[in-house]
Amino acid sequence: MTTSISDNLHAIRERVAQAALRSGRSAHAVTLIAVSKAHSPETILEAVDAGAEILGENRVQEAKAKKALLPTRLQWHLIGHLQSNKVRQALGIFDRIHTVDSLELARDINRIAGELGLFPKVMLEINVAAESTKHGFRPEQLYREIEQIAELDRLAIDGLMAIPPFCPKPEESRKYFVALRECRERLQSEYRFPLPELSMGMSHDFEVAIEEGATFVRVGTALFGERKGKAWKPEASEA
Ligand SMILES: *Cc1c(COP(=O)(O)O)cnc(C)c1O
Repeated sequence: MTTSISDNLHAIRERVAQAALRSGRSAHAVTLIAVSKAHSPETILEAVDAGAEILGENRVQEAKAKKALLPTRLQWHLIGHLQSNKVRQALGIFDRIHTVDSLELARDINRIAGELGLFPKVMLEINVAAESTKHGFRPEQLYREIEQIAELDRLAIDGLMAIPPFCPKPEESRKYFVALRECRERLQSEYRFPLPELSMGMSHDFEVAIEEGATFVRVGTALFGERKGKAWKPEASEA
């Protein structure tokens, strides 16, 4: 038996609320991002009709094409790596960027935001497991660079984000969520850099992430089902 996207959304919201309560917070302290990458606008609309308000996408072009086809009240969050040559476009599309993963990218966004007269909301991505294949600041690197980042006056940096290695058991992800929170705590206490938001937790481990302080959880598969391909393209759906 398959459940509907609407059923999935309500079940996820309930689990988010329960996990928030377990961490001594209200359900409103945690924002659900519906990760709609690779799904068609028709599928996404089912989630939107059921109450999804924030969509997470990892490709600039794909988000741009979908945004043109979906209700304008939605918010769009970039959760994938941003290439420097797409910063200008991304700033025109996304309400928040979770994945500022280097000083160089932070500088590029800052400069272009200045040209466009914007103060974008962004988060710094941390490579919590020091994986060579992944983007993001290593914590020690960020402590060295945080003062230079703090000078970028166009960036409204208010949190940290992580994509830990996949662990089959959600409990095994806990140490990475703790590591992200501890990185935040050090930046706040030692460097006086306030970072209230923590973007962490995906379909299989969002409850553990919430228990460790997540304020944004990014949920795709549990809401929409398995992704069929890596990306959605407008031509493919019109054919
Ligand atoms: C795809 C993706 C997700 C959603 O993953 P699911 O396991 O499908 O919930 C969350 N965060 C990022 C950064 C992603 O790329």
